Amino acid sequence: MYYVKMTFTPSERVEITENNVEDMDMTDNIWNYLGCLARYGHIYKDSLIYDEGIFQAFFFMPELDSLDEKNCHRHILQGLKNIERKFAITVDVLGKDAVVNTVCSCGDSSWYILFARKNDAISPIYCGDCFKMIPAYKLSHIELPKDCQPELGWQADYKLIDKLWFYSSFDRFTYRQMSDPKSQLSKSGREICAAYEKALGKPFYYFLFHYNISGRVRKKCPDCGGDWILEKNIGYLSFKCDKCRLVSY
Ligand SMILES: [Zn+2]
Ligand SMILES: [Zn+2]
Repeated sequence: MYYVKMTFTPSERVEITENNVEDMDMTDNIWNYLGCLARYGHIYKDSLIYDEGIFQAFFFMPELDSLDEKNCHRHILQGLKNIERKFAITVDVLGKDAVVNTVCSCGDSSWYILFARKNDAISPIYCGDCFKMIPAYKLSHIELPKDCQPELGWQADYKLIDKLWFYSSFDRFTYRQMSDPKSQLSKSGREICAAYEKALGKPFYYFLFHYNISGRVRKKCPDCGGDWILEKNIGYLSFKCDKCRLVSY
């Protein structure tokens, strides 16, 4: 992950005042463009500042070439064309994320996992080989059904439910949503996995949450009842059912 500054210099000088609607439109143009980049997983945790007639956006970007044309969906390229009519854009990489480098560099992953946590600001798609995240734009050539958008739909729901579970003393309803393979949340996540698997021709697993408060191990797959304990852990994973495409730890 890299921390980046993107500078938008308007072709005509603008002054943003409280009542200056036209200039607020310019801010909207930038937000729309950043929103599009975020939707496809090119940028994370963005913020925008204005100073002396110039706008500067700051964000995390998974890879150095995340904004290269070859990685961009046609919607982003169209958005860029529109915004370049009003702004000159420059991009400066300020540094590498000092905390963690979480991006998969396998190139050709042999399997995938859909996985989220309450405070995630990264893609929910993980490489099964290295268990690092794969930016959503890497799979943006795959047109998923409208109700199968992982980042905006399922991941947003998952994060809310995970937060609710964590801050409401581990209540049963939210726990069931994350741990039961047949809950509404699991159902929509598994539909995304199935759609990706069909398009990619590679196994795409759903991560099933389990909080081992009682020390009891789920010895059998909670969906089909078959064996799912791994002889040897794969990364953090101790459970995997190939038939149901489920993993857990
Ligand atoms: Zn990988
Ligand atoms: Zn199973």
